[in-house]
Amino acid sequence: MKRIYVLHFNQNNYDKPIVYQLIKNYDLVVNILRAVILPRKESYLVLEIIGDEVLIEQGLTFLKESGVEAESIRKSVKRNEDICTSCGACTAICPTGALYIERPSMKVLFAPENCSACGLCVNVCPPRAMEVNF
Ligand code: SF4
Ligand code: SF4
Repeated sequence: MKRIYVLHFNQNNYDKPIVYQLIKNYDLVVNILRAVILPRKESYLVLEIIGDEVLIEQGLTFLKESGVEAESIRKSVKRNEDICTSCGACTAICPTGALYIERPSMKVLFAPENCSACGLCVNVCPPRAMEVNF
C-alpha cells in the first residue's frame, strides 16, 4: 500500500538517520516528494511510503518513538469544498493529478492520496479554496 505523510523533525532529531532506519528496519520504499531542512530548527519531509500495511504502522510507531511527528497528507492539504467553484484552474498546474476534472460531470475533484504537498495550487485558486498547512 502507498501513503503520503509529512514528517516533522526538531532540533534534536533532524540530523539522525531516521529515514534510513525506516527503510532498512521496516522494508519500506520511500520517495521524498518535498524537503525543507533547517539546521537546528524544525525541518520537514513530505514522504511517500510504500510497503506492507503492518510494517508501515510499525514504521510510524518507530517515528513517534524517535520524536518525529508523522502527519497524514490529508490533514496537511485540504480543500474548502464550500468555496471551490470547480473552475479548473488548479488542474492545469497540479503536477501529480491530485486535482482533476471528472467527466462527464466536469466537477473538479481532489484526491489527497496523490498530493505531494507542493503548494502550487494555493495561489492559482481564485477563491483560495486550497490550504497547505505544515
Ligand atoms: S499541493 Fe496542490 S498542486 Fe501540489 S500536488 Fe497537492 S493538490 Fe496538486
Ligand atoms: S482552482 Fe480552486 S476553485 Fe478552481 S477548481 Fe481548483 S480548488 Fe476549486
